[in-house]
Amino acid sequence: MKEKKGVRLEHISKIYQDPKTGKDFYAVHDTSLSIRPGSFVTLLGPSGCGKTTTLRMIAGFESPDEGEIYLGDEAINSLTPNKRDTAMVFQSYALLPHYNIYDNVAYGLKLRKLDKATIREKVTRILKLVGLEGMEARMTNQLSGGQQQRVALARALVLEPGVLLFDEPLSNLDAKLRVTMRTEIRRIQQEAGITAIYVTHDQSEAMALSDQIIIMEKGVVAQIGTPQEIYYHPASEFVADFIGEANFLRGKLTAKAGGSGTVTVEGTQVPVVGVEARQEGQDCTLVLRPEAATLADVGVLPCKVVLSCFMGSYQNYHVMVGNTLVKITDFNPRNKKTYQVGDTAFVAFDKENVHIL
Ligand code: ATP
Repeated sequence: MKEKKGVRLEHISKIYQDPKTGKDFYAVHDTSLSIRPGSFVTLLGPSGCGKTTTLRMIAGFESPDEGEIYLGDEAINSLTPNKRDTAMVFQSYALLPHYNIYDNVAYGLKLRKLDKATIREKVTRILKLVGLEGMEARMTNQLSGGQQQRVALARALVLEPGVLLFDEPLSNLDAKLRVTMRTEIRRIQQEAGITAIYVTHDQSEAMALSDQIIIMEKGVVAQIGTPQEIYYHPASEFVADFIGEANFLRGKLTAKAGGSGTVTVEGTQVPVVGVEARQEGQDCTLVLRPEAATLADVGVLPCKVVLSCFMGSYQNYHVMVGNTLVKITDFNPRNKKTYQVGDTAFVAFDKENVHIL
């Protein structure tokens, strides 16, 4: 494979007209980000947040109204898609229906007028990489969804692009195959040593695949980070809520010494860390993941159980802490005390497992 390329967006905006109101709006607004060569990055966010528009601008199917896009060191705004060192894998696969697998994969190379022997060598190598060797003669309309997706992937990979772009490539597959294929995509991306930018609205897909996740919200970047950074240190309630489940405990920082302090939540003092930059008296929100808390006879916050449900691998609790509903996922409940609806107990957690907003 060729040199890996990074991608840089500098103050990119895209303006569309709302078909209903006729008014212009920013589908993507003043977005700057940098993607490292060879990394796997996902654009993640709710429907309409601007993921696909961002990807299509990198591919060259849309042009930005403001800002500049760089591939490696090259400014590419003025280049048509086929002049960019990118290839896209679409949700719809976009295969040629009356061609066999070999010809589908070879098509782009023929357009580039490579000689027959080189085409054969490249196609054979890529088909092996995606696990379709020996199936060259099969027509693409006789393939399963997973096989069609592999052909689509091979067709993009064979062009040896500096950057591979994916637009929700697995959304037409059933849940089990999606999980298998995403592992395959990650393996192939790593083996090919290629930079990948992947659009999805499936958070588990993003977690499983990514070196970095870019969370988008209403046309702007809400946070960029590793899956762990995003999950454990969300930058906002939007991010915390979008990735996994989160309890939000409202309170006030009532005491502070260095990085440690106390936040008063529903009248109870909760020990916290990581408050160096905060002032006493400040309002704050504690983010507590359901699996970071357990129910116990002694703990941090007194509560009353309003739902207790056995789920096999965990006991699902909803408890009220004053007027705040807190969800708890208590794993491996087999040998633990189980609390029932109406019981009083404590929400127990370590102060290191709480994130402060
Ligand atoms: P989804 O997950 O639903 O695909 P997305 O995050 O990829 O969403 P985009 O497709 O980038 O979102 O769209 C961003 C916004 O721009 C949406 O409000 C969408 O309706 C709008 N939009 C997209 N393409 C056009 C267009 N060609 N003309 C007008 N508005 C558009």
